[in-house]
Amino acid sequence: MKRKECVKVVVRARPLSSKEIEEGRKRIVDVDTSRKEINIQNIKGDNNEAQRTFVFDEVFDLNSQQEQVYNNTALPIVESVMDGYNGTVFAYGQTGTGKTHTMEGKNDPPHERGITPRTFDHIIKVIEGTPNIQFLVRCSYLELYNEEVRDLLSPNHLTKLELREKPEQGIFVKDLSKIVVKSVAELNEWLKAGRANRKVGETKMNQESSRSHSIFTLTIESSEIGADQQQHIKSGKLNLVDLAGSERQSKTQAVGVRFEEAININLSLTTLGNVITTLVDGKSQHIPYRDSKLTRLLQDSLGGNTKTVMVANIGPADYNFDETMSTLRYANRAK
Ligand code: ADP
Ligand code: MG
Repeated sequence: MKRKECVKVVVRARPLSSKEIEEGRKRIVDVDTSRKEINIQNIKGDNNEAQRTFVFDEVFDLNSQQEQVYNNTALPIVESVMDGYNGTVFAYGQTGTGKTHTMEGKNDPPHERGITPRTFDHIIKVIEGTPNIQFLVRCSYLELYNEEVRDLLSPNHLTKLELREKPEQGIFVKDLSKIVVKSVAELNEWLKAGRANRKVGETKMNQESSRSHSIFTLTIESSEIGADQQQHIKSGKLNLVDLAGSERQSKTQAVGVRFEEAININLSLTTLGNVITTLVDGKSQHIPYRDSKLTRLLQDSLGGNTKTVMVANIGPADYNFDETMSTLRYANRAK
């Protein structure tokens, strides 16, 4: 398989919010789903073109439904993870553009559920429908803030964990909880528990969740007696990643925040962009996984025979022009 086929980059534009409509904000983003284009009007009045067009593997407009987004992004990856491959789904974008909406959505009404709960349903349904294969599903949920890893499923979720590397295991987080799960209800409960711990950490440690990355990982092992009467064992891993907001930290916001922190948050996003660009490009042998914790953590699920999709989320309004351009450029470079 060509590397290019393993990385898919899509863009999703949310509708104007009621607040934006109230404030009379102008929509400057146009989504052409048939041509897979995003058109953005340049409102700067500078010497650049009045409009820019970007083409992606897929684009989703303001009317896009959660099910449609899931089917066209995560679903093929979930299927290949059940077949023993690794995969990663990323939500990228400025805070407030729909990353969490895309990944988690809302449970009620059910059609608003995002990629993560739909993935849970899919996996358990396949397991229940395939009694001749034995499955073992485990989940982990961690947060990466300022290049520090915390276990969101542990009673000690404020403790910093270390990244380790062993020749046979590769890179792993020492002492990270890996919880065996058997039902959709259990998966949803762990997701909820982790989210609650994230909130507690945010308050106790004076941090904003918008500046941390969260990774929910499902490991799926299967064992089957084949026609050859031999046991066939497969193991796949799926990472569902809600990335930190991609917006630049303004100087005022950075007051009281260590400078190092702002740099680190950008470091993981910048390195992720570099890793994906290098993978897609396929020319360089050196892929800079080691340059950030995020990419080290995901090293065995990015590149090689793994599948990756990045959903870049954007806002449609004029006042977000700079951030939206920056997201489109990042996504464009990654495809
Ligand atoms: P982020 O996680 O990127 O900060 P959120 O997912 O929290 O952004 O979205 C911000 C707000 O916009 C939420 O109220 C969310 O429900 C709403 N929203 C985001 N994307 C969409 C969409 N595609 N359609 C409708 N509402 C959306
Ligand atoms: Mg969010």
